[in-house]
Amino acid sequence: MNRRYPVLDSFRLAAAALVVAIHTSPLSSFCMPCDFWLTRILARTAVPFFLMVSGHFLAEKEWLNTLRYLKKTLLLYAASILLYLPVNLYQGIRAWPDWLRRLLADGTLYHLWYFPALILGVLLTRALTRFGLPAALITAGMLYLIGLSGDSWYGFATRIPLLDTFYHAVFSIWSYTRNGLFYVPIFLLLGAACFRLPHKTAAAGALLALLAMSAEGFWLQAQGVQRHDSMYLFLPPLMICLFSLLIEANHGERRQFRSLALLIYVIHPLIILLVRGAAKRTGLEALFVENSLLHFAAVLSVSGACACILHFLFPQKPRADARAWRELDLSALCHNAHTLQQSLPAGCELMGVVKADAYGHGAIPVARALQRAGVHAFAVACLTEGITLRRAGIRGEILILGYTPPSEATLLRRWQLTQMVVDAAHGDALATAGGPVRIHLGLDTGMHRLGIPANDLETIAALYHRRNLHIKGVFSHLCVADSLADPDVAYTQAQLSRFYQTVSWMQSHGYPPGKVHIQASYGVLNFPEQACDYARVGIALYGVRSNASPVRRPLDLHPVLSLRARVTSVRTLAIGEFAGYDRAFQAERITRIAAISIGYADGLPRHLPQQGGCILIRGQKCALIGRLCMDQALADVTGVPGATAGDIATFIGSDGAEILRAETVAAQCGTISNELLARLGARLPTVTR
Ligand SMILES: *Cc1c(COP(=O)(O)O)cnc(C)c1O
Repeated sequence: MNRRYPVLDSFRLAAAALVVAIHTSPLSSFCMPCDFWLTRILARTAVPFFLMVSGHFLAEKEWLNTLRYLKKTLLLYAASILLYLPVNLYQGIRAWPDWLRRLLADGTLYHLWYFPALILGVLLTRALTRFGLPAALITAGMLYLIGLSGDSWYGFATRIPLLDTFYHAVFSIWSYTRNGLFYVPIFLLLGAACFRLPHKTAAAGALLALLAMSAEGFWLQAQGVQRHDSMYLFLPPLMICLFSLLIEANHGERRQFRSLALLIYVIHPLIILLVRGAAKRTGLEALFVENSLLHFAAVLSVSGACACILHFLFPQKPRADARAWRELDLSALCHNAHTLQQSLPAGCELMGVVKADAYGHGAIPVARALQRAGVHAFAVACLTEGITLRRAGIRGEILILGYTPPSEATLLRRWQLTQMVVDAAHGDALATAGGPVRIHLGLDTGMHRLGIPANDLETIAALYHRRNLHIKGVFSHLCVADSLADPDVAYTQAQLSRFYQTVSWMQSHGYPPGKVHIQASYGVLNFPEQACDYARVGIALYGVRSNASPVRRPLDLHPVLSLRARVTSVRTLAIGEFAGYDRAFQAERITRIAAISIGYADGLPRHLPQQGGCILIRGQKCALIGRLCMDQALADVTGVPGATAGDIATFIGSDGAEILRAETVAAQCGTISNELLARLGARLPTVTR
């Protein structure tokens, strides 16, 4: 197939139509065996297909999105329950306990079994994958066989008394074996395993399996053993081959098809009722109810139309990876947090510095991931950053490493933020701001930026006598800890000794210092053995060094952020043609250039192309050319013949075997990675993986 065609997403629509067929029996007024084949055999591929795509995408993200996926499924189920509650009530809920059982096990209407089964199945599957895919597949396969014996092979199973008792017990919970543990996991896992068979094998396999499953279905029906008809022996092999064919042909995606298919799935039973009701009212029952094919067509088209209307009523959010985005590897972040925490002396706690939107990474996803990883203390640069974290549900200590006007003291209290005291006057003003404030004293030990001079013991003592100042900590900041040059090391040592002198004076004079902290990232990397309660780590947490200078104790830290953008247009320049503002690039040979949708408004340094800046496309390095624009960049892609619109261009991060490090890009632009990252603009959405 030459054209890019989103086969997987399109097949979702076909699968939704098959589910509608199951519930409307389109061929029943013409040919019963044909209808049996269509709805009880062929259409039984639909739900396994939905499960396999889910399993495929969950596994692709290493099951990291499982919780989010479950939440979404739960919400959808809740909405569906509400939608069908009137139908339930109209039909009459005879026994509430049974309705509750159905709510948890069977779904509250016949097609809603899918949601509780999916939730249970995903939980079970996720647990199984921890034992490795092969073991998980074998277990799920056995569960499937148990389910099958209670489904289309049921008549054979009941000949064994023990099995009969077993299935009786099962059916007191779930009405069908399809609804519980037995059906969902195998298909989720087959989607996760995603066997890619050679094309011919897959095509022949699918055809053979379909024939075998048809024979199986008709034979079981003739035997009269079917209790239900969702599970066949030949269904999993058919799905393996079918999925392999679909994945092979799949190019790109069409997200609206996903929500349309889901909406059709959820609403079509309601539409069946509406079509029947409307036909009765208008006297058109002969046409739209008794003619099964027209009935099916009416239900499918009205469901499709309603799904489209609903889809447009609730417009989808734009995709985060459509233009330019920052991509966060949260497992790398978690690894870094653990590595750093492990490296600290006992009793010293990691304080995650997430100021400046977590150094351009996105403060909320970073702080939430750190909180999940067991970090309980955070630092920000200003009041609004602190409030943002609290609103996002961040608990524990949040320290503001910068000036907050005393007039805002109420907000400090309201959000339980800890304020640093930047100098004596600030401390004074905070003390008279009209209420208690939780503070850490900043000490100036030689940086001469913020803090009370470390030898100004009088001021420190005076602040302890102010009723409204709740002094919970004392800290200082090192200004050359990244350098191992002798004079710099001596300067750092002097800062450290001034700091600890003051701290011990406070301890011995009845001024409890509270939490004591002085190291930032380079303090941890170069001066690890400090007696502290916190280490305020920023840049190292993101797996990046500020610059290329060596450190005394390197740690195994992994970069968290990748910066990527889409190629939007590719064109060819003849020799001598120019590109970009100022005609800054001139083609010396026939040159293919790509326009990429990111610019200096997103935070990239404008002179990056002139400093030898590169990007990665299809795993290959390409030079940036011309002037970087506000929203566009140009790159020479002559060396990547396949490069085309829609490709992903990587500015920071890895692609294939190549990697562009933030440190390298920063050095090219004559700055440190801290600045490069912190400038990444608010226009960039964050994609986590
Ligand atoms: C920014 C900052 C930090 C974190 O610095 P890194 O070098 O990124 O770890 C620590 N302390 C103070 C006072 C800061 O301003």
